[in-house]
Amino acid sequence: MSTTSSDIVVFGATGFTGRLITRYLVSHPQFTQGSFSFAIAARSQSKLHALVQELKLPSSINIVQVDVTDFKSVEAAVQRARVVINTIGPYWRWGTPVVKACARNGVHYVDLTGESVWIKDIVNEFDYLATKTGAIIVPSCGYDSVPSDVSAYLSNKTLKAHGDYDVATSISGQIVRGGISGGTLNTIFTILEDVPQDKLRESARDYSLSPVRGEVFPAFRLLYEQVIPGETSVPGSFFLMAPGNTKLVQRTFGLLELQTITATQSGSSAEATKIARRERYGSSFAYEEFLIMSSRFSAIAFSTMFMTGFLLLARLSPLRWLLKKFVPAPGSGPSEESMEKGFFEIINHTTSTSTPPVHVKTVFKGDRDPGYALTAIMISESALSLLLPPISKPAPPSKTSSLPEGLPTLAKKGGILTPMTAFGDVLITRLLDTGRFSYESHIVDQVSFRAALTRAKNVLILSGAGLSAASGIATYRNADDSLWNNFDPKKYATPEAFKKDPVDLWTFYHRRRSAYLLAKPNAAHYALATLAHPPTLARIAPSTAQPIHVTQNVDALALRVLESLPSSQEDKDAGTLSPADSIIEMHGDIFVTRCTSCQHLQRSYAPQLASALADLEKGQDSDAKPQLTVDQLPKCGGDGWAGSNRYGRCGGLLRPEVVWFGEMPPRSGEIARKMSGCDMLLVVGTSSIVRPAADYAAQVKKNGGTVAIFNLGRSNGDEDADFVFIGPCEETLPEVLQVKEDIAQLWPDM
Ligand SMILES: [Zn+2]
Repeated sequence: MSTTSSDIVVFGATGFTGRLITRYLVSHPQFTQGSFSFAIAARSQSKLHALVQELKLPSSINIVQVDVTDFKSVEAAVQRARVVINTIGPYWRWGTPVVKACARNGVHYVDLTGESVWIKDIVNEFDYLATKTGAIIVPSCGYDSVPSDVSAYLSNKTLKAHGDYDVATSISGQIVRGGISGGTLNTIFTILEDVPQDKLRESARDYSLSPVRGEVFPAFRLLYEQVIPGETSVPGSFFLMAPGNTKLVQRTFGLLELQTITATQSGSSAEATKIARRERYGSSFAYEEFLIMSSRFSAIAFSTMFMTGFLLLARLSPLRWLLKKFVPAPGSGPSEESMEKGFFEIINHTTSTSTPPVHVKTVFKGDRDPGYALTAIMISESALSLLLPPISKPAPPSKTSSLPEGLPTLAKKGGILTPMTAFGDVLITRLLDTGRFSYESHIVDQVSFRAALTRAKNVLILSGAGLSAASGIATYRNADDSLWNNFDPKKYATPEAFKKDPVDLWTFYHRRRSAYLLAKPNAAHYALATLAHPPTLARIAPSTAQPIHVTQNVDALALRVLESLPSSQEDKDAGTLSPADSIIEMHGDIFVTRCTSCQHLQRSYAPQLASALADLEKGQDSDAKPQLTVDQLPKCGGDGWAGSNRYGRCGGLLRPEVVWFGEMPPRSGEIARKMSGCDMLLVVGTSSIVRPAADYAAQVKKNGGTVAIFNLGRSNGDEDADFVFIGPCEETLPEVLQVKEDIAQLWPDM
């Protein structure tokens, strides 16, 4: 028997799961690299030696004889390891001395228990001690309950990346194929026979393992249902593992909640408080889990059968005695071949507390029998999470801690933790590295929006000031902008003001125009313009004609981006609209002038529309009245007008072609007609409750169309929209439309 220390010691290495773990560890790339050492421990010396022979284990693997009924032998074994992998169950019967030895000696510990009643005991007895010694004690690191914990954790992470949201509900449906082990059934019988009824009842309560209470779902039901927006609802039945998994996920919630409360009350650093806030699920969190079934009927039938069977087993000990004769003995398990065919898939649907709620869907999958093959991987990678960084994310050893970088804050404190509070992203990365696990997690709204966009036959875009905000163009509502400071729209934006003092008005508009000329389009303009690029449109919205963009902005940025879009002859033949035809500037355009005599319209990006206006740029900030005469203002035919009175060269006074107060937007009839045929309206950079967007959105909704809002803030009334994407539209539009690569290709210099 060896007295050398090892990084990991596997308790129960000669059992069925213990052997799988031993085999997994010895072929682990970080073991073959020599990055960690491990020992195998069991009661029978001869069985240990047989295992060495059978698996041809290298001599570097230490052999430790341990008897879990003898605390001295347990403590001696624990003291020579950094992490204990304990596979010896039922834990209610054998686990406590191992946890006690680890907690006392500051040795980390992982196991495979699903026994809430026992976890409650060790939390009560050893949590405080473990925080004193820094021991990280993590029960349930196998199929109980890693997938459940990971699914709720990933959804919360996706939600927090989307904004400062709290979780309201988190519901996981499981699909599983795999054998039930003799050990699992043995555990159920042990619990039923050994544990006092009142203790069982107490631990069966929601939040029995959590330091903080959250919300709950109604208790046992015959029919469960997962309703993810844009998808067919999925029926489910009662799931044997759900009660245990739920208690564990509730403990993760509770530990994170407590961390936030402590950080806030103890006046921790702003950074620590921020991290705690980001990690927490939110105080009104509610979790539940069920087994996904093919129909409502089979779901109800399965729940009924299951509960009847379970009640009979619990009440009738002769039945248990009989069943024990037929179930596989503890220590046996499925064949290699049947383990290959196993898998699990857990689908989590999380909603936020906001109105309307944000929906997140996370799918976490494992390929192989979850109860055995994947369990061996999950517990091994859990133990390794406390020793080494993942292969795909190497990091130098930490200078301040013996733990690898990247573990959650709670791990550094020790205690009785859960997989996600102890290992977090490190374990998830490790599981992905094995190639046996995969996940997807995203905001559902984005996915269902994209699906709706694919189906839409007549897409229109309606944009407001928010579209150009990132280009530095403010509206007169923005008081920080010196150009509009103390600006009275009634003074400059009326036909009367122009008649009374055209010099004053042109002074204002020239300065405004010069600022617009310097403004650069932002990613939101580019994202919308990709819809005028036939290959992009064919990919993201194949059923619609090229969308018309109706904008309230007078800055011409949307138009200038379209003018810079490279277009081929093929595009033109395919009926791609010219930039001017695909944009309706409903409030006019500051770069267009109208002759007050002959009504001639002209677009110009020239720095000055009349040479005398150049003088204005010198005295930008002075309030002094510019010394200009009406004759020096922009005129029809330009500075060099030679007395002609022909259309477009008549010498008449020009005015900016923007819609002033008291004037009818010239193209409102045309816009109304377009809206009446629209089945999907993208409202960008304006609230859907401000007119005219409110009227148009209501009209599209009334016709059965879809409204999607991309705006910086949320407004009351937005809930009438089908989709609301909150955030700067230069970030949300490229992401939601998935056109980031298109933008990079079409405008490489952007
Ligand atoms: Zn004219």
